Amino acid sequence: MIQVRARLVVGAVTALATALPAQRGAVCALTPPRAPADTWPMDARRDPVEMILHNARIYTLQWGEPRWNGDPAPSAPFANGRWQPDATAIALGGQRIVAVGSDSAVLALRTAGTVVRDLRGATVLPGLVDAHTHVAELGASLARVDLVGARSPAEAMARVARAARTIPPGTWVLGQGWDEGAWADTLLTARMLSARFPRHPVYLRGLHGFGGWANAMALARAGIRRETPDPTGGVIDRDASGAPSGRVRNRAVKLLDDAIPAPTRAQAESHWLLGLRALANAGYTTVHEAGVDQAHLDALRALASRCALPIRVYAMVSTRDSAAVREWVARGPDSSGAGGATIRAAKAYYDGALGSRGARLFAEYADLPGHLGVAGAAYGFDSAAVASMMRSGFQVGIHAIGDAGNQEVLDFIRDVQRTTPRAATRRDRIEHAQVMAPASITSRRDGALIASMQPVHAVEDAPWVTQRIGPLRAKGAYAWRTLRQHGFALALGSDLPGSGFGIGYGLHAATTRTDSLGRPAGGWFPEERLRIEEAIRGYTTWAQRAAFVETRRGMIAPGYDADLTVLDGDPFDSTTTLMRLAPRLTIVGGRVVFDGARNARDARSRR
Ligand SMILES: [Zn+2]
Repeated sequence: MIQVRARLVVGAVTALATALPAQRGAVCALTPPRAPADTWPMDARRDPVEMILHNARIYTLQWGEPRWNGDPAPSAPFANGRWQPDATAIALGGQRIVAVGSDSAVLALRTAGTVVRDLRGATVLPGLVDAHTHVAELGASLARVDLVGARSPAEAMARVARAARTIPPGTWVLGQGWDEGAWADTLLTARMLSARFPRHPVYLRGLHGFGGWANAMALARAGIRRETPDPTGGVIDRDASGAPSGRVRNRAVKLLDDAIPAPTRAQAESHWLLGLRALANAGYTTVHEAGVDQAHLDALRALASRCALPIRVYAMVSTRDSAAVREWVARGPDSSGAGGATIRAAKAYYDGALGSRGARLFAEYADLPGHLGVAGAAYGFDSAAVASMMRSGFQVGIHAIGDAGNQEVLDFIRDVQRTTPRAATRRDRIEHAQVMAPASITSRRDGALIASMQPVHAVEDAPWVTQRIGPLRAKGAYAWRTLRQHGFALALGSDLPGSGFGIGYGLHAATTRTDSLGRPAGGWFPEERLRIEEAIRGYTTWAQRAAFVETRRGMIAPGYDADLTVLDGDPFDSTTTLMRLAPRLTIVGGRVVFDGARNARDARSRR
C-alpha cells in the first residue's frame, strides 16, 4: 500500500525553502497555513522527493486510538499479541512527508536529486515530543564548567582555568559537579580559588546542589560577609576568625545562586541551543518548555527568526514573570510556528512539590501531622494574571501536585472556561497531576483536559510517596490508567533537567512502573501502567494534540510535517529492552538534525 498526496501550495513551499540560508540542522521558516489535507489533489509528480528512507520498521500511528484500557483499536497492526510495522519506506520533500508505504512503491518516486538512505531495519516513529521540559535550564547547566568526576580540588581548578581563559574579567565563571559526598571533608576555600582566579567571580556548585564553593569576589557579590547569619536550613562555613571560608552548605547555596546575574541575550541564546541540541541528539523533534521568562522568550524568537533552532519549541509563558504576562496578554498567542517557535500557552504554578511536602493535600501529610502543604496565592499563584492569559487566547498549563491542589486547579480552570468560552482554552493542561482524589478524577468525563505527566517521576518518587501520603492516597498517585479511563487526555514528558530524558527510560517507566533497575519487582501500583502504544502516543500523537498540531504532526502520513525519530530498536517489539533504546536519526521538517551514524564515523576518523 502506498499513500501519496501532493500539495496545492507546493510551488510556494519550495520557493520559500530554497530562499532560506542552507543552514543544516536548523528548523527553518515553516510553511504558511495550508489547505485541509482532504482537498489536496493526488499528484505525486508535483512533489520534490528530496529524501527516501527505506528498509525500516515504520509505525505510522495512522490507525485508530487505543481504548481507555489500552487495548489496540481493531484497525491497529496488532495481531496475536504482537505488533507489526505498517510501512517500510518514507519519502520526504518540501519539509513534509510525501509518501509512506512499501520499499518498492516509495523507491519508485526517486528522482536524480533524491538522497536515499537504507535504514537497515531501524525503527521509525513520528517525531518524539517531550511535553514538559526546562531546556534553557539544561542548557545553562551545560554551559557551566563540568566538574563531574574531578578527583581533587586541583583537578577541578584546572578545568575551571581552561574555561576562565575565554571569559572576560569581572564576569562570573560558573562550574558544577564536584561531589558533596566524596568531598564532605575536603578543604575547599575561597583563598585557593582567589589565588588562581583573582579577576573573576568564581562559583562552583556541587553535584547535587547541596554545596557551593566560591572565591572572594563571588562571596562579595553575593553579600556573604563575616556578619551574614546562616540562613534557615543552611550553613556558611567559617574560618577560625569567623569569616566565611568559601564553602556553603544546603540552603546557603541559594545566597550564591541568587547573586548570578540574569543571562545576557547571547547567553540566553546559547542556553537554548545547548539544551535543544542535547534534545535533538536524544531523538526529540519538539519540546514543550514549561515556563519561559521574557528574556528567554526574546532569545527564542531571535533564534527562530534566524532559523537557528535545531528542533521545535512550544513555549509556555511563565506567569511568574509579570512583564511577560503584560506583554503577551497585549500581543496574544503566536501560533504560527515560524522558525520552529510557538508561543501560545502560559505556565503557572499552583502548589509545591511532594518531596519537600509543599504539595497541597486535603488531609495532613502522613509523615508530618497537621501539615497540608502550600498552594494558591500563598504559593505565588496569581489567579488574575493566569485568567487574563487564558482570556487572551492562551492555553494554560498549571503545575498541580497534591490532591487539593489538583481539585482547586480543576475548579479554577472550569470557572475561567465558563466565563470565557473561547475555543483556545479548551485544551488546558494540568502539569504533573500527581496525586488526585477519586472524586476529582471522575468529575471530568469530557476529555477536555490534558494531564501532562512524567512517567519517570512515578518511578523515582515511588520509594517515598507512600510515606508522605499513606497507601490510600498513593493509589490515586501518577494514576495514568485511571485518568485515561475517566476521559483525561495524556501528554508525556520528562521534566528535565531534574530527571533523565532518554526516550527508552520514559517508555520503560510508563510501561513497567519500575525504575531504571527494575525496582520494585512487578511495578509500583502496576494497574496504572500504560501499554507500549499508549506510552509512544504520549510522546507523539497525544503530545502534539496538547499543542494543537495533531493534524500536521504526530503521525507519519502524506502531507504531515517531516518530523521523524529513528531508533536502533523497536519499542513495539516486546523482546526489546526499552532502557537500551538509542536514537539513530532525528529529522525535523525534513532536515537531519542528529545523525548517529555520521557522529560515529566522525568519532572514528578523529582517532
Ligand atoms: Zn517542570
